[in-house]
Amino acid sequence: MSNAPRPLSVWAQNIAPSPTLAVDAKAKALAAAGEDVCGFAAGEPDFDTPEHIKVACIAALKAGKTKYAPTPGIEPLRQAIVERYAAEYGLKAAPSQVIVSPGGKFNCYLGVLATCSPGDEAIVPAPFWVSYPEMVKLAGATPKFVLADDRTGFRLTPEMVERAITPRTKLLILNSPSNPTGAVYSRAELEAIVAVALKHNLYILSDEMYEHLVYDGVKPTCIATLSKDAEARTITVAGFSKTYAMTGWRIGTTLAPAPIAKAIAELQSQMSSNVTTFAQYGALAALKEKENTAAALKEMLGAFDRRRKNLHAELNKIPGITCQLAQGAFYLFPNITSFGLKDQDFCARLLDQEKVAAVPGSAFGAEGYLRLSYATSDEIIAKGVARLARFCATLKR
Ligand SMILES: *Cc1c(COP(=O)(O)O)cnc(C)c1O
Repeated sequence: MSNAPRPLSVWAQNIAPSPTLAVDAKAKALAAAGEDVCGFAAGEPDFDTPEHIKVACIAALKAGKTKYAPTPGIEPLRQAIVERYAAEYGLKAAPSQVIVSPGGKFNCYLGVLATCSPGDEAIVPAPFWVSYPEMVKLAGATPKFVLADDRTGFRLTPEMVERAITPRTKLLILNSPSNPTGAVYSRAELEAIVAVALKHNLYILSDEMYEHLVYDGVKPTCIATLSKDAEARTITVAGFSKTYAMTGWRIGTTLAPAPIAKAIAELQSQMSSNVTTFAQYGALAALKEKENTAAALKEMLGAFDRRRKNLHAELNKIPGITCQLAQGAFYLFPNITSFGLKDQDFCARLLDQEKVAAVPGSAFGAEGYLRLSYATSDEIIAKGVARLARFCATLKR
């Protein structure tokens, strides 16, 4: 009998490490080694959490909010989340339909686990946020990718969704505004896509993590508000990480029809229990202290918008690069196919030669693009784009 260790599980063997975190880690390691790195790989705001949110958390910690809390979240926070959906979208829901989870990523995973069984298929629009395919696979289901490239503004058409549906399709994942492209669907576009999903009796996981980071007067659409039928089939994920610069807090939210919310809460009760109790009081302050929060958000949005326009203008000056002006999140997704290089090689050489960190589009299921995050300083953007231009000038086209 051999004593060689037996293989780990199929889950452990099949999981793909997060490519965005990998690029970011490499850039940070270079910077720590003293290199002057321009990082465009980070998927988080470069701002600190607004002060009043920290103060509320510290007060809760001092007041002894250090015990287990109800699994789906402290009552006042669930109530405040219901109130904000009512105020922002006119959506009526009960606190029992809200689950607060340890990060929006986990909210998404629980939404997938609540709806997908082994053998099921989930439609994942590409370019996709890197975690969706892995979440679907961890549920034993199969991701079915549908690529919408820059020719359709990185947005699916109803026909593309229709073609991807099979008798096994159970779930449609949507993410508007999008990570990695920043694309925002119009309400009419979503109505048409959701009609297809409802016709085939699919569930919809709507990841609205970037709903508040929109520009040019664009309004985000909360898919659950499209119709009563849409509301009955949609799991809405949102959170605090991106809007309020709270990535390290690990707090995300789900709003779902009562039976799904109950299932998600039960899954969470066995997998993580509640989000850190005192952290939830910080999130509560983000929703309750409206004036402070609005002021902080306005300042961050103003900075993001300025950087978005600058980065977009500078990228389009580089011969060989074409870039659309996305209206949401904090990413641009320029097309680099004219250089005839694989995007992974492009990014590796760019980091090597110019110390500029960008994530290849292929990490998001779309070869031939870069994801550039503009959640970084104006100085880094200016310096980084100049280096990118110098790098591109050395390439053949
Ligand atoms: C950042 C992000 C999330 C999750 O955020 P958390 O940090 O887990 O709260 C979910 N979806 C998308 C598209 C994101 O970019």
